[in-house]
Amino acid sequence: MSEYVAPLQQIRFTLEHLAEYADVAALADFAHVTPDIVAAVLEEAARFASAELAPINALGDRVGVAVVGDEVQVPKEFAAVYGRFREGGWPSIASSPEIGGQGLPKTVAVACEEMWNSANMAFALCPELSQGALLAIDRHGDELLRRTYLEKLASGEWTGTMCLTEPQAGSDLAAITTRAVPKGAEFLLTGRKIFITWGDHAMTDNIVHLVLARLPDAPQGTKGISLFAVPKFRLRADGSRGERNDVQPVSVEHKLGIHASPTCVMAFGDHGGAEGHLIGQPNEGLAAMFTMMNYMRLGVGVQGMGVAERSYQRCVTFARERLQGKAPGERGRVAIIRHPDVRRMLLIMRTLTQASRALCYYAAACLDRAAHGTDASVAEVMQARADLLTPVAKAWCTESAQESTSLGIQIHGGMGYVEETGVAQYFRDVRIASIYEGTNGIQAGDLIGRKVLRDGGATVAALVSEMRSVDAPLANAGDVFSGVRAALSRGLDEVVQASTFVLTGEKRDPDLAGASAMNYLMLLGTVIGGWQLARGALAANAALEAGGSVDKAFMQTQLVLARFYAEHILPRAGAYGAALRAGSASLMALTPEQF
Ligand SMILES: Cc1cc2nc3c(=O)[nH]c(=O)nc-3n(C[C@H](O)[C@H](O)[C@H](O)COP(=O)(O)OP(=O)(O)OC[C@H]3O[C@@H](n4cnc5c(N)ncnc54)[C@H](O)[C@@H]3O)c2cc1C
Repeated sequence: MSEYVAPLQQIRFTLEHLAEYADVAALADFAHVTPDIVAAVLEEAARFASAELAPINALGDRVGVAVVGDEVQVPKEFAAVYGRFREGGWPSIASSPEIGGQGLPKTVAVACEEMWNSANMAFALCPELSQGALLAIDRHGDELLRRTYLEKLASGEWTGTMCLTEPQAGSDLAAITTRAVPKGAEFLLTGRKIFITWGDHAMTDNIVHLVLARLPDAPQGTKGISLFAVPKFRLRADGSRGERNDVQPVSVEHKLGIHASPTCVMAFGDHGGAEGHLIGQPNEGLAAMFTMMNYMRLGVGVQGMGVAERSYQRCVTFARERLQGKAPGERGRVAIIRHPDVRRMLLIMRTLTQASRALCYYAAACLDRAAHGTDASVAEVMQARADLLTPVAKAWCTESAQESTSLGIQIHGGMGYVEETGVAQYFRDVRIASIYEGTNGIQAGDLIGRKVLRDGGATVAALVSEMRSVDAPLANAGDVFSGVRAALSRGLDEVVQASTFVLTGEKRDPDLAGASAMNYLMLLGTVIGGWQLARGALAANAALEAGGSVDKAFMQTQLVLARFYAEHILPRAGAYGAALRAGSASLMALTPEQF
């Protein structure tokens, strides 16, 4: 089996040229993060991913998890590696130094997350959720909660979960019925949550569950939901671990992928009530939970991209070695990497993955600039852009990851369909990324409804105008860029037309937004990918022209990637635009019985 080798050169190139990392590094809050530190962190993260996480990925898939007694048992190798992950300080790289973190930019943390996910998505989910819980407590929790949990979560001494889903409340969180009854300053929770990722394990001393529940007499719907911190073990007054709280993992799901990540049915309060502490204001829990959800949504996009990268690497190794058939101008049997159709598949994988990487890193940089920028107007623009990009990163990158990991199986032929080669695991693992953290359909609805219609298309128009600004450099860079320039320009025209179509047609047809949403999201993601690859080509071209010690093969590859994307992927923009402009008529024409 081939090993995971972090694509560090591609990662550094993306940070520097496509995420505009220099603008992040210039922020005063990151003055301590020197280029040497960033280089050392990326290299050490790459080593940890290859040496520690990748070797237990297939094992986790095979062994899985189980409820034993009143606890979930994960493979012992995972607990050992988690211990070393903590010792290495990895959980806290992006946390504030005030709580023991290293205060690195999110942009750098996202590059590390890519590597964790490429190496072992099931493992990576655990620290990811803990970070999300930390952020929600930091932003919305009171002093007691912050004192109790922040340092423990930052160091990875404890982990965190998000407990939203109930059998009748999946996408529709308004239907949540878990109850929270006041008991002194605390609350007693009763209810059942399903599908809780890393809901239980014994890798750490304690786990904090962030649970959505309803107070007595809470209003119906999403306006009556509150958020609570519920520890697995109760905490004594001095913050130390007390007896077990009334929270139990009832069972773990047998599922398609991420077998080493326990997906738990959790029972809260079967024996009188699970003690919890309110986070933020009563009935405003969903807004507080969105801090964690938005963090996770970008994280899920990174998961997709990371797993797709791993599948791509394995495919390249296989395609170079597997001999089948003949090819024009070659003697004897050739490696399948010679065949144009195999190259088509490899290049789709490579370019979709690179476009996804650029999109995720860029979104992370926008978040850094929004949170740490001193110019309020720039910070506002960056936050709006990050809000717009979050559902696109989550859904477009995970749709692309499904396409890539499916092609990963195809490139392996029959060997892809059997488990031995490992590419089937990537396909199975990544399938969930389009479903959890709000299905991709829900992301598309969020994009159209909250991010495009709500501000009359202003944020997307600003992004389009920024994307158009590469037109002049592409024109100046010579004939070799003319195809990229024309394809990107057509793609941007499609985005403008699609935005206008939805903005002007929404009142006429109440189903138009829902009918257009997914095509709009795919269109926008596809065009952003084209923009980023075009920028990559411009940067590579400049490096080649400057000469010196530049890695010519790497830079020339960036030119080919942009050209391939413009010729083979960007034409999809036209199809998404045309389908979108067909409106809702045929979608809504059949009665439920006619399906
Ligand atoms: C492995 C795994 C891990 C998970 N981890 C967690 C976790 O840690 N914490 C947690 O709380 N939950 C978790 N979940 C739950 C996950 O977030 C939900 O499954 C997901 O949000 C979808 O909800 P649902 O399954 O009820 O599907 P439904 O909401 O029933 O959706 C079914 C289909 O209908 C579509 N649909 C529903 N409503 C709409 C709408 N308004 N507009 C358009 N389309 C719609 C959906 O897109 C989907 O295609 C996990 C699930 C799995 C399988």
